[in-house]
Amino acid sequence: MDKIKLTEAEWRDRLTPEQYHILREAGTERAFTGAYERMKAAGVYLCAGCGTELFSSAKKYDSGSGWPSFTEPVTDEIIDEHVDISHGMRRVEVRCARCGGHLGHVFPDGPAENGLRYCINSASMEFQPD
Ligand code: FE
Repeated sequence: MDKIKLTEAEWRDRLTPEQYHILREAGTERAFTGAYERMKAAGVYLCAGCGTELFSSAKKYDSGSGWPSFTEPVTDEIIDEHVDISHGMRRVEVRCARCGGHLGHVFPDGPAENGLRYCINSASMEFQPD
């Protein structure tokens, strides 16, 4: 995988302020406000930072959490996991493995066989319909 490395100034040029806050500053959009929370269309969700395919609509489900939720990424290799102990919680942060952009967190309460829920900010992705 070709990693993408840009300066913070280059990221600011490339991203909207909201995308920058979430992808580069590990921000979180407010629950039930994201563009893709209720999206049911068939397609793929690309990283808003680098365009890499991250998630398929086939693995999206309504978790009721207020954020787009998936049971698994397109490939495990495209996701980097990091332990996140901010805000008094121990969570597993997920980032785009190619550009390092913060996507959201993965929790062990998913509905599929692997038991995972990828809880992802809408603003960190771009939807591409089939
Ligand atoms: Fe990326």
